Amino acid sequence: MFNPKKLALARMRRRMTGKALAEEAGITADTLSRVEKGHRPPDDSTVVRLAGALRYPIEFFFGDDPADIDADGVSFRSFSKMSAQEKYAATSAGQLGVQLATWAEHRFNLPDPDLPDLSYQNDPERAALEARQYWGIGERPIGNMIGFLESKGVRVLSLSEDTANVNAFSFWRDGKPYIFLNNFKTAESSIFDSAHELGHLLLHCKGDLRGDRLLEREADGFAGAFLMPANDVRARVDRPVTSDIIITVKKKWRVSAFALLHRLWRMKIVSTEHHYRSLCIDLSRRGYRSGEPVGVDREISTVWKQVFSSLWNEKITKDDVAKELNIPIDELEGLVANMTASGGRPLTRTLSVV
Ligand SMILES: [Zn+2]
Repeated sequence: MFNPKKLALARMRRRMTGKALAEEAGITADTLSRVEKGHRPPDDSTVVRLAGALRYPIEFFFGDDPADIDADGVSFRSFSKMSAQEKYAATSAGQLGVQLATWAEHRFNLPDPDLPDLSYQNDPERAALEARQYWGIGERPIGNMIGFLESKGVRVLSLSEDTANVNAFSFWRDGKPYIFLNNFKTAESSIFDSAHELGHLLLHCKGDLRGDRLLEREADGFAGAFLMPANDVRARVDRPVTSDIIITVKKKWRVSAFALLHRLWRMKIVSTEHHYRSLCIDLSRRGYRSGEPVGVDREISTVWKQVFSSLWNEKITKDDVAKELNIPIDELEGLVANMTASGGRPLTRTLSVV
């Protein structure tokens, strides 16, 4: 049976209005509207036209509903800046990501979720300590955040969206935690984003996350405290703090210069406004506001690297996987973009945006 929800998903992914899709497919807006509302199943030639216009395989449009993701339960990093279209495109990527992860779970032994419920905790600093205690990782730096999250059963996927407004998002579905990262940012930003999203998964797992600034501050506080435990920071950062010290020592925790500066300010290691401001100015002058001139290597996924290399050993390519999932290859590549290749620099953007 043709599934109108699948049509809606593909249209959202391709960021096409109904009018644009009807024109591209050479059908009337009225026909499209009836098909989308499920009032009339399309004939074969209409399905072919729609699939062609959307660059999705014909088989995609048939079968079960896509994974239901409640947009209110999804935390968006820059929610207020996102247009409705960007939001739908991103949550639609989430639906495809659930499909890919579920497929991988059936074929491989992926780690089971092992996350503490910290929803009772409203102090992010304590929550970060409790999370570290739960996992028995003391106060040492996390070597590889994506690998760590995956070992605790979090499904981490890429968000190859052509917009700076979507940083990252996360949600729980069927008892599984998901994090989607915009992997085209600096390695340090992605690491901080993943810790921020972990904060949402642990602290805000029960409830509506619609753009609440308090929840965003809590997730940021959690990320800073989780990545840079207070005692470790006190032990490693010499005083008086200079830009050079920040640039040298930030590599321990694989964070940006500004994330460390912010942590030092919150911990009152940088204690006067004047000192804080002068460090901000100096780091900006040295290029750390817009990037990370001296940075760490990009993290890659342990899970997806293993999945695709063991498939490759069986001569199964990403194209074959895309075919099995009935999704376009560019969507599959987008979901694992920069996740499976090693190396410090981002790869070329693979998702073409209409
Ligand atoms: Zn957030």
